[in-house]
Amino acid sequence: MRHHLLIVFLLFVLSGCMVQSTNSSYHPEAVAGVIDVTGIQGGQHKLAELNGEWSFYWNQLLEPADIEAGRGELSGYIDMPSNWEKYKLNGEELPGKGYATFVLNMQISEVNRVKALSIPKIYSNYKLWINGQLEAASGVVGTDSTSSVPQKITQIIYFSSNTNQVQLVLQISNYHDLRGGMWDPLVYGAASAVSMKHDHHLAERGLLIGVLALSGIYHLGISMFRKKDLSMLYFGLFCLNDALRNLLIDEVLITKYFPHFPWALAMRMEYISLYMEFVLLALFTLHLFPKQASKKFTKAALAIAGIYVIVTLIFQAEVYIRFLIFYQIFMLVGLLYALIVFIRAALHREDGAMYALVGFLIFETVVAFDLLKYIFRYSERSIYSIGIVLFIICFSFVLSKKLSKAFNTTEQLANELTELNEGLDWKVHERTLVIEESRKQLIELNRQLQEWSMADGLTGAANRRHFDEYLGNHLMLAIEDQSPISLLLIDIDYFKRYNDSYGHIQGDRCLQAVVNAIKTSFPPSDGLVARYGGEEFAVVLPGYSAEQAKDIAEKVCDLVKQLRISHENSKVADVITVSVGVATVYLKEDKEYTKLIKLADNHLYKAKALGRNQVCAQSEVDYAVESSV
Ligand code: GH3
Ligand code: MG
Ligand code: MG
Repeated sequence: MRHHLLIVFLLFVLSGCMVQSTNSSYHPEAVAGVIDVTGIQGGQHKLAELNGEWSFYWNQLLEPADIEAGRGELSGYIDMPSNWEKYKLNGEELPGKGYATFVLNMQISEVNRVKALSIPKIYSNYKLWINGQLEAASGVVGTDSTSSVPQKITQIIYFSSNTNQVQLVLQISNYHDLRGGMWDPLVYGAASAVSMKHDHHLAERGLLIGVLALSGIYHLGISMFRKKDLSMLYFGLFCLNDALRNLLIDEVLITKYFPHFPWALAMRMEYISLYMEFVLLALFTLHLFPKQASKKFTKAALAIAGIYVIVTLIFQAEVYIRFLIFYQIFMLVGLLYALIVFIRAALHREDGAMYALVGFLIFETVVAFDLLKYIFRYSERSIYSIGIVLFIICFSFVLSKKLSKAFNTTEQLANELTELNEGLDWKVHERTLVIEESRKQLIELNRQLQEWSMADGLTGAANRRHFDEYLGNHLMLAIEDQSPISLLLIDIDYFKRYNDSYGHIQGDRCLQAVVNAIKTSFPPSDGLVARYGGEEFAVVLPGYSAEQAKDIAEKVCDLVKQLRISHENSKVADVITVSVGVATVYLKEDKEYTKLIKLADNHLYKAKALGRNQVCAQSEVDYAVESSV
């Protein structure tokens, strides 16, 4: 919506610039070489086109003195503005090449006031006398291609007359252009009115060139940094090409800067810029809507334009101008093709296709008017400028939209990426926590597994495997350190009977309680409690002497008794009791490993035999004997 408002606003601004001087109502016509322009007065904006019947002298270059003396032979009256090709002399059309003199007598209203004539481009040169004075010339008028020199300029001539009669004598020769004569009218008016209109045209053209050049440079600039998107490049080139073309057509603005700009070069540039306009439009269309446009057509356009460019560069203007008509036909086909592309793009709802279509319709209208201008001698030009500017605005919108979309997408992607990254950080953090947690769990599990693999499932005491390992290691250390090592073998008294009277489950509980009691009998770091078998336990006490070991054994006996687990069928007490065999060794070699167990076992057996519920340890003497083994 905002875009549409902007377009409407620009339209208003531009149409303000294009307001035409109000001369539309005054249309005097020359009859038999005489025109009445007394309606034109100083201080007015009214202008008169000097159209109608001018006296015509074919193949004669006459000067005012010749006319005065009646030396010329009047060929007839010719409708101006025109090229003489259409004129029938003795029933035959005149050739494009040749020379002639045109005379017009004007009746003006004010004597001795400065008036002005705006002279359009004349093909291909001229000389103009006003009341006998040579006032203007363009190129050199001649009678053949060598003596005549073409030049294409527009200019304003100011003059004043001391009579009401003003005579215009105009010599034109043409050997370089296709047709001789003039296509636009001479315009007469008060000096200020004529110059104002001329200024207006120049300003309008200048503005248009400025817009085109700026747009061209801008889009070329973008295309330099966005090499992927060729539509920017071709649109930029299209604008610059059109800017150049506008320097060369109508007012031939380039000659205002360079009055002697070579005619042949200007012609070539004008024609080549026309071919290029079409090619660049085709290329631009192809890259803007590649899905809708045709590569083949674009290639064909390139090839045809290429041929035209070559022909234009090689041959003289009179040759390549002849072929223009075919190019124009091809251009019409091209315009139709482009229209189809834009309509298809709009139907497929491609990005910016609506703007493109509107812009292109404006462009086509303008071009159509431009073509019709030659056919119907229509000289209103403001529509052309405004049309081109609107076209540029529309397509700038299309391209801006495309570019902005790319920016937005990039921005969005960048945002998404940032979000994703942040999310990733968080996820990594989360994962790390989870991994850390499971690592801890694994360590704990491992620890437990290790414990389980070393512990007896029922009582939590070390299992037999662990016992063997522990005992083996500490025996070795004891040999190395030359220190004693003690072993207690503990057996529950009449446990079979206990099971029989209280059941296995109760028996299990009893086993657990006994183990706990044994564990409290010495500091945990001093040794190891193991389940040696069924209801038999072993305590390894590295570094413990026989005496110390015996104390522990006694303590075990007491602690178990203090548990007060009633055992009615025991023959020694009414509670659970244990018998303990204690052995201590002081080894020198590792081959005596089994000795400690054997000794402890013997003492346990003795304790049992002596009546159970007691400790049997070796005497001090025994110990000395054992130690000395
Ligand atoms: P003694 O005083 O001569 O040692 O007699 P005892 O009955 O204790 O000895 P014996 O070796 O004849 O019996 C040991 C019993 O221990 C046999 C078995 O029922 C019991 N036992 C062994 N392991 C377990 C166990 O894990 N749980 C339970 N409840 N009983 C067990
Ligand atoms: Mg036993
Ligand atoms: Mg027993």
